[in-house]
Amino acid sequence: MSQIRTRFAPSPTGYLHIGSLRTALFNYLWAKKNNGQFLLRIEDTDQARLVEGAQENLIKILQLFGLNFDNHEPMVQSTRTKIYQEFAQKLVAESKAYYCFCSSERLDDLRKTQTEKKLVPKYDGHCRNLSQEEVSAKLQAGEKAVIRFKMPENQTVEMHDEVYGDIKVKTEDLDDFVLLKSDNFPTYHLANIIDDHEMEISHVIRADEWLPSLPKHILLYEAFGWPQPTFVHLPLLLNPDRSKLSKRQGDVAVEDFVKKGYLKEAILNYVALLGWNPKDEREFFTLEELVANFSLEHINKTGAIFDIQKLNWFNSQYIRKVFYATADEVIYGKKIEPHTIEPGNLMIKLKNKNILELAQSFIPNDISLDLKNKIIKIFSSRLNNLAELAEVASFVWELPAYDKAMLIFKKSDLEKTKTGLNLTLELLNQTEEIAWQEENLKQLLSDLVAQNNLTAGDVFWPIRVSLSGREQSPSPTEILEVLGKEESLKRIQVAVDKLK
Ligand code: GLU
Repeated sequence: MSQIRTRFAPSPTGYLHIGSLRTALFNYLWAKKNNGQFLLRIEDTDQARLVEGAQENLIKILQLFGLNFDNHEPMVQSTRTKIYQEFAQKLVAESKAYYCFCSSERLDDLRKTQTEKKLVPKYDGHCRNLSQEEVSAKLQAGEKAVIRFKMPENQTVEMHDEVYGDIKVKTEDLDDFVLLKSDNFPTYHLANIIDDHEMEISHVIRADEWLPSLPKHILLYEAFGWPQPTFVHLPLLLNPDRSKLSKRQGDVAVEDFVKKGYLKEAILNYVALLGWNPKDEREFFTLEELVANFSLEHINKTGAIFDIQKLNWFNSQYIRKVFYATADEVIYGKKIEPHTIEPGNLMIKLKNKNILELAQSFIPNDISLDLKNKIIKIFSSRLNNLAELAEVASFVWELPAYDKAMLIFKKSDLEKTKTGLNLTLELLNQTEEIAWQEENLKQLLSDLVAQNNLTAGDVFWPIRVSLSGREQSPSPTEILEVLGKEESLKRIQVAVDKLK
């Protein structure tokens, strides 16, 4: 079998849509699984939609995710306009395409009349039968022209898609679509087919919004006499209400997720499961594991719901693993083996400190690095994304105002709370700095509870509230360790004074 070659062919719009990341990923996976090549092509022939820096941005983000392409330089369509023109003219010479001089006003009117008559708008073939002399004369006179495909009459186009199966379309339902625009730039259809042919693409894997274009593409392959690649159209991505995933309902730009501290491993893992399933219970996959497990048969037809809750869940699982590993390795200098998440066999090797640095960036600058790292460690098991640190950890650097009633646990009372806090204050005051460690503090306070005939609610609850001003937080002893002795005692004293 000849080599498997796939391509990712984005139009540079300035950001990478989460659905495009999935397209890129599936193309990458299929190529790598088959020891083939994954190629990048920039489809930038729509001059009206060009965005400065979009191409560089795109390449950067693909590289960030490890989706490295095998062509050293991407193929860029805007540099190939001459090639497209020549191929379009070749089709004209073979009477498979023709020049059309219709003005946009005429086409607008046509569309309007057809819509009014409830017809599907379609070019009416006005220029289809111009004589060669007429065409030459018009071209010589400098009239603006496009080149249209001459749709064969009364034919059935038969297509096969790996996901959607066999599809048939009658040519009378198709239009004499434009191949070359009046600015001499190709349309998507023309450039796409020529490039896939020249790049020797074996599998076209793309979003199913392109499925309606498939008959045109098949006809173009036939017109050129070229072999067709295998087509794989990926199911639509949907909002939870089953509408098409769009910017309006929230983030869709991959860059925004990255900025918010979603880990690329988590994003990639989640995106892989949008429309593909491994046919077992496994949920966690590294990129390498995806390559090994990916298959086209397990791509679903039905739309895949992009569920931010599920992404949050994946991300929180990854953050947890990453920071339990990095905190031990980076902060405490322990050598650790790569961790394993259940179920599945996820191994995140954290040789790099990038994620730690990213997490640090969400904590105010005037906080010491040591304190930042301690904060990250105690919060890492409770974050949907790293950006949340700025909010959930803020009580560390600024104790919020709270109502004194909050200090009393619902199964406790004022007297017991006071007793608990006073005893705590006394005990912690006597605890040496050197013994100020989470495990040790937990033991001391548990003993205090037992020896004084109190409950955990009488002691741990008011400590939590006095240290954090919140009802939900990491464990009180974790906060004690992070805040340190001096600050902790200060805050507990404030609570004791409130209750006087
Ligand atoms: N440029 C198209 C896009 O932005 C590519 C479609 C295809 O892969 O054929 O999605």
